[in-house]
Amino acid sequence: MKNLTANRIIEFRQQIKCIGIFFLICIVPLALANWFSENRLVFHIILFIDGWLTWTFIEYILHRFWNHSKSADKQNAIVQRHLHHHTHPTEIKVTGKQRLAMVLIGFVLISISSRTDNFITFLAGIWIGFFWFFMMHYFLHQRWSKKVFPRLLEYHITHHCKEPDRCFGISCTCWDLVFGTGPSSKKLISEKVTAFYFKGHKHD
Ligand SMILES: [Zn+2]
Ligand SMILES: [Zn+2]
Ligand SMILES: [Zn+2]
Repeated sequence: MKNLTANRIIEFRQQIKCIGIFFLICIVPLALANWFSENRLVFHIILFIDGWLTWTFIEYILHRFWNHSKSADKQNAIVQRHLHHHTHPTEIKVTGKQRLAMVLIGFVLISISSRTDNFITFLAGIWIGFFWFFMMHYFLHQRWSKKVFPRLLEYHITHHCKEPDRCFGISCTCWDLVFGTGPSSKKLISEKVTAFYFKGHKHD
């Protein structure tokens, strides 16, 4: 019990620190966007990229502190679902409906942001970042990703099979670099571990 409370305090502090650093990094581009507000194209490009970057941060925080919370109790549904993914890595699915819904929402947001010509572009950036993350996680569990996204795959295999308390970034390794949670050793991932990661298993 005592340990849980201690963990909760540690995690809370770590989260606050991450959010503080994120604000420093992501507020500057927003100020820049305002500076460039005469040039609407540059304004929207900065907002879009900043929104995307903001998503990658949300992805990092959710994965590190919510999916892998050390202070949540074992029955917590978010933790349970994620643990299931860790032990059954090949059972990841993206349905056609999910993809279609996400693309449609993306189109709606982009068309609203081009019409309203304001900060909605930032939201569009977050959404596209989310969509890309969703697809990317699926890609990282397909064998061909070895050739196309070798570095992201290295991070994700490390997270799944070697160090679950490191390498939380899925669509981007940048926040692991900023917060010092990249792979702890430079050793390459062995063929054996890679084979285990990609190999499915039979259910009764
Ligand atoms: Zn995980
Ligand atoms: Zn399974
Ligand atoms: Zn995964």
